[in-house]
Amino acid sequence: MLQPMPRIRPRSAALLGCAAVLAAALPPAAHAQTDPAADAPRVRWGLVIHGGAGTIRRAQMTDERAAEYTAKLTEALRAGHAVLVEGGSAVDAVVAAITIMEDSPLFNAGKGAVFTSSGTNELDASIMSGADLNAGAVAGVKRVKNPILLARAVMDGSPHVMFARDGAESFAEEQGLEIVEESYFYTESRMRALERAKEEAEQGGSAALRTESEKLGTVGAVALDRNGDLAAGTSTGGITNKLWGRVGDSPIIGAGTYASNESCGVSATGQGEFFIRNVVAYDICARVLYTGASITQATRTVIQERLVDQNVLGGVVVLGADGEIAMEFNTDGMYRGWIGPDGEVTVKMYADD
Ligand code: ASP
Repeated sequence: MLQPMPRIRPRSAALLGCAAVLAAALPPAAHAQTDPAADAPRVRWGLVIHGGAGTIRRAQMTDERAAEYTAKLTEALRAGHAVLVEGGSAVDAVVAAITIMEDSPLFNAGKGAVFTSSGTNELDASIMSGADLNAGAVAGVKRVKNPILLARAVMDGSPHVMFARDGAESFAEEQGLEIVEESYFYTESRMRALERAKEEAEQGGSAALRTESEKLGTVGAVALDRNGDLAAGTSTGGITNKLWGRVGDSPIIGAGTYASNESCGVSATGQGEFFIRNVVAYDICARVLYTGASITQATRTVIQERLVDQNVLGGVVVLGADGEIAMEFNTDGMYRGWIGPDGEVTVKMYADD
């Protein structure tokens, strides 16, 4: 086994709160205008989750559908909260929340995973512990019911960070994780989405890298536990009509998932190829660590400036070591929510929520 990393402690308030300190030195009116973190939710400990970003519009959403999403996101938040309230770890809370979403056909992860161009389902997931920078990831698994459990097993039960395809599945079997028939991941709606994507591609559309309503639903969670430790995780079926063997950002540590007690935890969703190229999750945490930007400032810069400049669609949920929460996206909407010590659930979908 590799030597464990020493425990990473949150940076002193002097660095983490550098932006806040600078802002506080300004006169009150200027402070209110220049500190975008002023309105951000903050928690002593808690959990923030997402269920994918993309075309989520009020006009296209039925009350019934909205209620289904709200109920499932609420269930996921409560599952994570139940772990944290008992003094459980951020890693356990992230796994508890993501497992609920993986088991629901509503999201593009686990049961509801989208199809590749070959009509298969190939699932990716990752998890990272901010206390020791330990991480686990899996790519292209086809028979593992809950890829986030496998990512966690890679982190805790192997000296490696990432397993792919057959090797990942054989490791899952060794670890006693639940293996299902490939047909478990078949859903009518995702098959229809594949058919539509193929038709569109034949008509010359660039379906491959777009994130539309039917390709939505990657899931992720970031937790801060009572011990002050952060963890982040992400799980996905990728993008509809992806070529088989394609791996997106979700299982790439630093791109789709990152956590360090020194800065923040991030889970991303969006056009994976570009999230990999921009190392999005790490970029946000690095800005917090090296520039003293607040969580809100760092997240906005990356999602609303850097990605927008490149026409890249997507979003992230972020939780700082100081408890600041950001849920930022440059699409019409993002399924998202958070919960803090009081157990009150906040769930949102649209940009103007
Ligand atoms: N980021 C995921 C991927 O590219 C897709 C998504 O989040 O919608 O695999």
